[in-house]
Amino acid sequence: MGSLDGDLHIEETIAAISTAVGRAAIGIVRMSGPEAIQIARGCFRTPSGRTLAGDSHTMSYGYVVDPVDGSAVDEVLVAGMRAPRTYTCEDVVEINCHGGPAAQRAVLRLLVRLGARVAEPGEFTRRAFLNGRIDLTQVESVAGIVSARSSGALRASMRQLEGGLSERLKEIRHGLIEQLAMIEATVDFTDEEVDETDWLGVLAGLESARVELERLNRTAFLGKALEQGVQTAIVGRPNVGKSSLLNALLMRERAIVSEIAGTTRDTVEESMEIGGIPIRLVDTAGMRSGGGRVEQLGVERSVKVMEQADLVLAVFDVSRPWSESDQRLARRLIPGRSIIVGSKSDLAPDMILSSLLELVVRATRCETWRGCLVSATRGDGLDELRELITRGIGGEAGIHLEEPVLATERQRELVERSVAGTDSAIGAVVRQADEELVCEDIRLAIEALGQITGEDLTVDLLDEIFSRFCIGK
Ligand code: GDP
Repeated sequence: MGSLDGDLHIEETIAAISTAVGRAAIGIVRMSGPEAIQIARGCFRTPSGRTLAGDSHTMSYGYVVDPVDGSAVDEVLVAGMRAPRTYTCEDVVEINCHGGPAAQRAVLRLLVRLGARVAEPGEFTRRAFLNGRIDLTQVESVAGIVSARSSGALRASMRQLEGGLSERLKEIRHGLIEQLAMIEATVDFTDEEVDETDWLGVLAGLESARVELERLNRTAFLGKALEQGVQTAIVGRPNVGKSSLLNALLMRERAIVSEIAGTTRDTVEESMEIGGIPIRLVDTAGMRSGGGRVEQLGVERSVKVMEQADLVLAVFDVSRPWSESDQRLARRLIPGRSIIVGSKSDLAPDMILSSLLELVVRATRCETWRGCLVSATRGDGLDELRELITRGIGGEAGIHLEEPVLATERQRELVERSVAGTDSAIGAVVRQADEELVCEDIRLAIEALGQITGEDLTVDLLDEIFSRFCIGK
C-alpha cells in the first residue's frame, strides 16, 4: 500500500469543523497530523497563561488566543491526544468551541494560519484507514453510522465497525487462498516429485466458500433495506381504509381521512420504523378504473407505485362484499412481495382471515399469501401486521441485526462477483478444465473479497468511497 501514501500527504496536519453546521451548544474543531499539538500550543492559553497540558488524552480549559495581538477568539475545552491511540492514529487535537458557525470558523481560520490545512471530506477516516487502524468495511460503517436513518441501521453499522463483516470475509477469503495455493503448488512443480492435486479437497473447499458467500448474499436485501428504507405501498380501492391504516401505523394524523370515496387522490409518503428497519409508506389513490380524470391519474400513479414498491400492503374492506375492483387488484399482486390486509374488522366480527385469503387465492390461482385482519379505528391486528412486514423484509428467518450484513451497494456487488468467480471455478474443476483456468477464477473470487475489506484496492476506489463522507469526519 506504500504507493497510496505518496499522494495523500500524510505529513500534513489537517483541520476541520467536525460537528454539524447550525446553532448548537458546542461545536468541535478537530485537527490531526504531526504538527497538531504544536499548532494548538501556539494558540491556546489557560486562564493562568499556561498552554496545553503535557499529558495525552486530557482536557484543558482556557481560550483560543490569536498569537499576533493576544485577543481571545473563543472560550474552549481542548483535548490533546498523542498518536497512536487516536481516531486517525496520528496526533489529534479536539477543540470544543461555542456552538454556532462564527466561533468555529474563527478557530479554524486561526489553525490554518498557524500551519494546518482544511481537511477534505472523509480525510480523518481516510487516515485511520491508511494508518491501518480500520479496514474498508469499517470505513463504510462510519459513513453508515453518520447517515443511519433508523435504530436498526445504527446497530448494524456499529456491529460492522466492530469488525464482524471483515472477520467473516477474511475467513472465506482465506479458505479460497488455501485452495489456490493447493493447486498452484502442484502446477509449479510438475516436473518434480510432488503429489497430484487433491481435486476432491479443492472442490469441497470451494463449495464451502460458496455456501458461506451465499449466506452473506442473503443479507443483501436487509442491507439495502437498512440503507435505503423499504418502499411499502398501501393499495386498495377507494374508501377501504388505506389512509386510516397509514395513520394507525404511524400513530398520528397525517393523511386526510374522508368519508367520500376517491378523495385520497395523490400519493402520501411517510417514514416510520418497524423492527429497526426504516419503512417508507406510500398511500396511493384508490385503484378503481373509470371515475374522473383526476381519479384516473391517481389510479395510474398507484399502479406505478405498486410496481416500484419493495412491499405492497393490499387492503380489502371485509365489511363490504368482494368486488370487481378487488378482483382486479388481487390479480396484480406478486405473492412474495405482498401482504393481504382485511380492513375494518370491527365492522365484520364474524369474518375470518382464511375466507379473505381464499378469495385472493381464487382470483390469482396462487396459494401462497400472507395476511391479517386489522381495524384501524380500534388498533386491532396492527402488531400482527408489523410482524408480517418484518418477515416480508427478512424472510422467514426474520431480521438478525447482530449478524454481519452487506451494508452497501459496493459490498453487495463485490460479493456477487466473488460468488460468480467461485461458481465458475467449481464448474471448471467439475469438467476437469485446465488448472490455470481454475486458478484464474479463484483469483477473481479472492480479489473481489479483498476489495471489500481493502486488501486489494486502487486509489480510484478510495476516492469513490470517501467522496460520500462529510467534511470533518
Ligand atoms: P381510503 O380511501 O382507502 O384511504 O379510506 P379512508 O382511510 O379514508 O377511510 C374511509 C372511511 O372508512 C372513513 O370514514 C374511515 O373512518 C372508515 N374506516 C377506515 N378504517 C376503519 C376501520 O378500521 N373501522 C371502521 N369502522 N371504519 C374505518
